[in-house]
Amino acid sequence: MPSPTPNAGPSEIYPQLMQALRERDLLLENAGVGIVYVKQRVLLRCNQRYAEIFGHAHPDEVIGASSQSIYPSERDFKQLGAEAYPVLATGRHFKTERLMRRRSGELFWASLTGRMIDPHDTAAGSIWIVDDIDERKRAEVELGKVTSEQRLIFDHAMVGIVFLRDRRVTRCNRAFEELFGYAPGELDGSSSRQWYLSDADWDDAGRRCYEPLAAGQVFQGEMVLRRKDGSPLHCEVRSKAIDANDLSLGSIWITMDITARKEAEAALVRAKAQLEHQVRERTQQLSQSVQALQDKVREQQEAEAHIQRLAHFDALTGLPNRALLKDRSEQAIEISRRNGQQLAVLFLDLDHFKKVNDSLGHRVGDELLRQLSTRLRAAVREQDTVARLGGDEFVLVLPGTDMQGATHVATKVMELAAQPFQVEQTELAVTPSIGIALYPDDGRDFDTLCKCADTAMYRAKRDGRNALRFFTGEMQAQSVRALTLENALRRALERDQLRLHYQPQIDLASGRVMGAEALLRWQHPELGAVSPAEFIPVAESCGLILPIGEWVMRTAARQLRQWLDAGLGDLAMAVNLSSVQFRHADLPALVSRVLAEAGLPPQRLELELTESVAMGDPLGAISLMNDLHTRGIRLSIDDFGTGYSSLSYLKKFRVYKLKIDQSFVRDLTEDPEDRAIVSAIISMADSLGLSTIAEGVETPGQLEFLRERGCAEGQGYLFSRPLPPADFEAFARAHLG
Ligand code: C2E
Ligand code: MG
Ligand code: MG
Repeated sequence: MPSPTPNAGPSEIYPQLMQALRERDLLLENAGVGIVYVKQRVLLRCNQRYAEIFGHAHPDEVIGASSQSIYPSERDFKQLGAEAYPVLATGRHFKTERLMRRRSGELFWASLTGRMIDPHDTAAGSIWIVDDIDERKRAEVELGKVTSEQRLIFDHAMVGIVFLRDRRVTRCNRAFEELFGYAPGELDGSSSRQWYLSDADWDDAGRRCYEPLAAGQVFQGEMVLRRKDGSPLHCEVRSKAIDANDLSLGSIWITMDITARKEAEAALVRAKAQLEHQVRERTQQLSQSVQALQDKVREQQEAEAHIQRLAHFDALTGLPNRALLKDRSEQAIEISRRNGQQLAVLFLDLDHFKKVNDSLGHRVGDELLRQLSTRLRAAVREQDTVARLGGDEFVLVLPGTDMQGATHVATKVMELAAQPFQVEQTELAVTPSIGIALYPDDGRDFDTLCKCADTAMYRAKRDGRNALRFFTGEMQAQSVRALTLENALRRALERDQLRLHYQPQIDLASGRVMGAEALLRWQHPELGAVSPAEFIPVAESCGLILPIGEWVMRTAARQLRQWLDAGLGDLAMAVNLSSVQFRHADLPALVSRVLAEAGLPPQRLELELTESVAMGDPLGAISLMNDLHTRGIRLSIDDFGTGYSSLSYLKKFRVYKLKIDQSFVRDLTEDPEDRAIVSAIISMADSLGLSTIAEGVETPGQLEFLRERGCAEGQGYLFSRPLPPADFEAFARAHLG
């Protein structure tokens, strides 16, 4: 691009040409692009813009430089040459975009358009138009990067993305197709209607999203859409208009499958409901079982309390029973021991309580005991214990009480008991017998004290009842003796220590032996001869009297049989009967059995019953006597005169004989009163048609009196002591008359 040379004058050049050249230069200088003329790889001419592009202030700085200098490397330069010249050689433009080098060494993007001046003469050089497109190029690269990033995101997003225009798919990613079960590209151009379940749904979605999209906002919602195979698909969709001002440009929809989430949510709701149900059920069950458990516990507690009450309290009176009494007493004794105090144990037993029970019934008896309990409780202090041992036996334990105090309480109790009891329509009076033992004199533990008080109570009874007795050393000795006897007596039968002696009974008129009374003898190796008066009560109290009594009856019966067989005449045998035997239901049958075994007629046997036994239970005695009478067995009343027999009963008793007690016989010759009594007994017996026999006849004077008064028989040392069988036999032979 030659500029007009100064040496060629304007007048010599065609003015039009000059004008054209000027215009061309102006054009070149002011062109927005760089222009350079290259010849033989040397930059021959360029315009200002070219110089600027490459970092030069003026074109002169460029002229003469190698064209290679504007390339990043020689290789780039050569490569361009290799690409460009074949094109240029054909006379066409060569157009490219390359990285070029500025003067500063900075590389930049340029667009190059080259053309040969003369395609047939490469030496004529080429013209190149150069434009700095670095900025655009970099923007393009940036854009490309962003676009490819977007592409990547679009292609590999885990969510479905679809572009819609007029509700038709313009583009969608693979995830979207997969979500709805379509093949790649299958959705392109198709209507969005196909992934809605119904027209109504489709219309509704269109309506709902219009407003936010038009406002440039995001439309967001959950929808149930439809897969290609028709199955429903829970989706969360978000959509936005590409340009809110022009909805015709379409919108982008991002779709997420929330089926799993929905199912999980539903499962969660179900699980929660189920759990709540289970919790409710379980709570109900629990509260039921808690209730049941509470009921059980309460029942248990009640049962335990009941057992506790039964175990410690008397059901009838509510008073402590023996177990609790023992417990409390032991504590009280311990306290007394520590305080150096005395303590009293009172043993109380009602007199003839059995009579109340038998004649008025147990209900009355029970009520009487209850009322008595209340009175006893009222008679003592708070710290005292009143307990019922059973039956009509009560025990009072009075801590800190000496003999005087005990007497005071016992007297008070006797007074209280003496006041009449109103039971139903009946007014009753009872008397107690009370035995008292004191800690520490009589014993240091409960059992001993209780036993002592019991012993003292028995003494009170023996001494006529309605009395109180303190335990004494003498009682102690007696009770020890009783225990010794009881133990020894248990073996007496099996060790053959028992014998019978026979005391003759004499007809006073003729002096003949009429019969014998069998009297028990016990010879113990250590204890020696023990009196029946001593051991019979022991045998009665421990029940041994039954086997012993049976043995007596059987032995006496056999003995009589032998004597009858030996020709001792028509003797009778009298056998003593204990109250215990008398009350035993088996008695009549036993007697019959014994008689049958011995082969004795019943009239040969006479049973002696003491007056007190018969009078203790007159009605029972009458019926038993009737039974024995029917069997032909005879009864006599022993020790008659000591037991206050009522004449009215006596008339009803089926007895055969009265045995006048020896206490009246003893002083017969001296005591006019005894004489009167004996006389009265004999005449009364006569009037009742009963026979009489006097016991303990020791002197001829006594015999004389008795005979004179008409007493039938006598028995006593005057005639004979009780004799062993052989001696009796000899006696009898001598006195058969
Ligand atoms: P009991 O039935 O009144 O017997 C009469 C008691 O007086 C006998 O005493 C007898 O030896 C005694 N005795 C007889 N004649 C005289 C006399 O002239 N003077 C005196 N002082 N005493 C005389 P024993 O044998 O010691 O018997 C005492 C009591 O023991 C008997 O009194 C009787 O109740 C009871 N007993 C004796 N043997 C038996 C028996 O086999 N069974 C029962 N249940 N009790 C018997
Ligand atoms: Mg007798
Ligand atoms: Mg007697």
